[in-house]
Amino acid sequence: MRRLRHNLYLALAVVGLSSWGFPAHKWVNATAIHGLPPELHGWFKRHHAWLTEHAVDADRRKHTMEGESERHYIDLDRYHADPDTLAAWFPMTWGAACERWGEETVQSNGIAPWNAQWAYRRLQEAFVAQDAERILRAAADLGHYVGDLHVPLHTTENYDGQFTGQKGIHGLWEGQLPEQFRSTYLLAPRTARYLPDVASAVWDVVFASHAAVDSVLRFEREVTERVGEAAKFGYVERGRVLDRRYAPAFCEAYHGALEGMLERRLRASIQFTADLWYSAWLEAGAPELPAPSEAERWWKRLLNWTTG
Ligand SMILES: [Zn+2]
Repeated sequence: MRRLRHNLYLALAVVGLSSWGFPAHKWVNATAIHGLPPELHGWFKRHHAWLTEHAVDADRRKHTMEGESERHYIDLDRYHADPDTLAAWFPMTWGAACERWGEETVQSNGIAPWNAQWAYRRLQEAFVAQDAERILRAAADLGHYVGDLHVPLHTTENYDGQFTGQKGIHGLWEGQLPEQFRSTYLLAPRTARYLPDVASAVWDVVFASHAAVDSVLRFEREVTERVGEAAKFGYVERGRVLDRRYAPAFCEAYHGALEGMLERRLRASIQFTADLWYSAWLEAGAPELPAPSEAERWWKRLLNWTTG
């Protein structure tokens, strides 16, 4: 039993390394709602709890659905090391990319930028169909994938610093740091804007993330040298397991060296999610949103009755 629990714990620890920590994904979906104009705000707000809770479904699917994990990243450096060359090639349509490099290669390098556009189309179709469940699922997933696009380490083969002796940096950057400094961030979005060219907007995000990879890795190295390997980690007890975490002082120094990068990437994730939700609705023809179901109405009445 203990063995099983230990293995389970390890599995969970590995899951935690795979994208913005679970909390950050939830903040993105929950906060994006505040950026929606009145036509959408009320409806989304009513489903606030659902959208927040399901912000991490896409990560959970990685373990059960073939082809899911590639949707969360793109290893741009496997295409080319030079950012100017990359900028000359992309944006490229899915079809053109597959023709050029072969579908298998494109797939195995990670397909996040194309996947985000497909997720956007799914949301648009769900709005057209005026299907509440589909709208919610598509919106929650889109927010998740948008969050991943904003993480620099989701755009490189060296996604966990494994090639540069910095293993663990992935979970540090997108999990431990935002959790430690969240209360200092100003994340509220402005009112959502229509994005006429979603493909370019998505690729702009990917390039901005990729441009930050160098700083993410370099500052970690510099701060490690300054603080010293010995002071870099601390141990916290979690149940029966001693969990190695980066020491708070190290996090403080690294977070400071990044000069607000985390807050900016998180805020941009939230804004982009709100903009895409709104744009998908506009492109669907600004349809009326589905009325609450009979069950939902009944539940509301009961709540009003018991609390009123
Ligand atoms: Zn993810």
